[in-house]
Amino acid sequence: MKKNKKTVLIVDDDKIILDMLEEKLNTKIKNVKILKALTYKEAVKHILKKGQVINVAILDLNLPDVKSGDIIKFAMGKGIPTIVLTGTFNENLKQTLLKHNILDYIVKGGKRGINHAVNSVDRVLKNYDINILIVDDSAVQLSQAVNILKKMKFNVITATNGIEAYGIIKNSDIKISLVLTDFHMPKMDGMDLTLKIREEYNKDELGVIIISSNNTPEISTQFISIGANDFINKPYSEIEVITRINSNLELLELFQKTKDMANKDFMTGAYNRRFFFDSGQSIFGKAKREKKDIAVAMFDIDKFKNINDTYGHDVGDVAIIEVANILNENLRDTDLMARFGGEEFCVLLEDISLEDVEILFEKIRGIFENNIIKINDSEIKFTTSIGICYGMEEDLEAMIKRSDDGLYYCKNNGRNQIAINKANIK
Ligand code: GH3
Ligand code: MG
Ligand code: MG
Repeated sequence: MKKNKKTVLIVDDDKIILDMLEEKLNTKIKNVKILKALTYKEAVKHILKKGQVINVAILDLNLPDVKSGDIIKFAMGKGIPTIVLTGTFNENLKQTLLKHNILDYIVKGGKRGINHAVNSVDRVLKNYDINILIVDDSAVQLSQAVNILKKMKFNVITATNGIEAYGIIKNSDIKISLVLTDFHMPKMDGMDLTLKIREEYNKDELGVIIISSNNTPEISTQFISIGANDFINKPYSEIEVITRINSNLELLELFQKTKDMANKDFMTGAYNRRFFFDSGQSIFGKAKREKKDIAVAMFDIDKFKNINDTYGHDVGDVAIIEVANILNENLRDTDLMARFGGEEFCVLLEDISLEDVEILFEKIRGIFENNIIKINDSEIKFTTSIGICYGMEEDLEAMIKRSDDGLYYCKNNGRNQIAINKANIK
């Protein structure tokens, strides 16, 4: 569940620019590793380092120890997505480099250039985790769109008609953010696909962009009115597709941010109690109807007050954040995890056996028992207790109550343990 740390290489012979870029990248982007180089030689060393994957690079055109543009050739030769940041504006050069698939050509010009470069990096790094489905019955047009999206570093999935596309959206394990679809296709066209998608997904959950050569105004209006997010006319220019996709994704991300603010705990990024109950009720209801067992686990740090008292509240906060991260790393995407209170988390799991529940939470308990967390100069260690209710109860509240009873039992029985209560009301 946890996103991998991404690596950015920044190369410029001006140390002030490098430092500014580093600071802005760190402020804007979470979880980023930055490699800096002042010369071609240093940059090449980073690039050739064994096991080093560079997700995107900001490269200066002119460096003191090589010919202009050599670093760009070298990096692109190694398949590194490249943004050029330069003091020289040259439209011909810009067009040539864009043809050779650089992502962006930015003229320094003070803070504006730096901000532009940082935003560009942020966009590309996000794109690595975004899945886009392209639907077109023409192999040529499909591959044209695929090439543009791959260059933008999206994860691209393709389909050749509406039925196939809908099957992918419904059945695949990965979450698709955006569908780019042609209008006229055999089996199911873009209009029916859009209608079908909107029966189940809102505009803010799954974006739909239509690409069509039928550019009568009525058609685009009709598409928008049935729930398409945007409409692109064929033939299109590459820059138009890039701009439209970026602006639609920015909107979707804004919607997501608003939802997160309402549903998530700011400190840990875990869901809050209210969201747990809203979402948990439907998971519980479905399991009950299907006569399936589920598990509710109540998780609590042992003697957490001691951590706060010994190391201070800030260190306590980091410990709580670490708990959310470790839980996330060990849970499946379908498990619902929420922060219930200070250092207490609740997890709801479906489609899991009693044995696997025991294995999973024993593993999690063990991770904390053996984990030393380094925070500033302190090394802290703590254990955890986990009360679990497995099976099926009258309602979700009853399952939570029984997992809480299990937690209470652990606390009175020496802590650092899990306790499972079985329930079998069907
Ligand atoms: P037990 O083993 O019985 O769970 O002992 P405990 O010390 O963990 O007991 P308790 O759950 O009562 O203590 C929770 C403490 O967590 C009390 C509160 O001051 C602290 N706390 C609550 N929210 C936060 C927070 O957001 N950050 C920090 N640092 N501490 C918090
Ligand atoms: Mg506690
Ligand atoms: Mg507590």
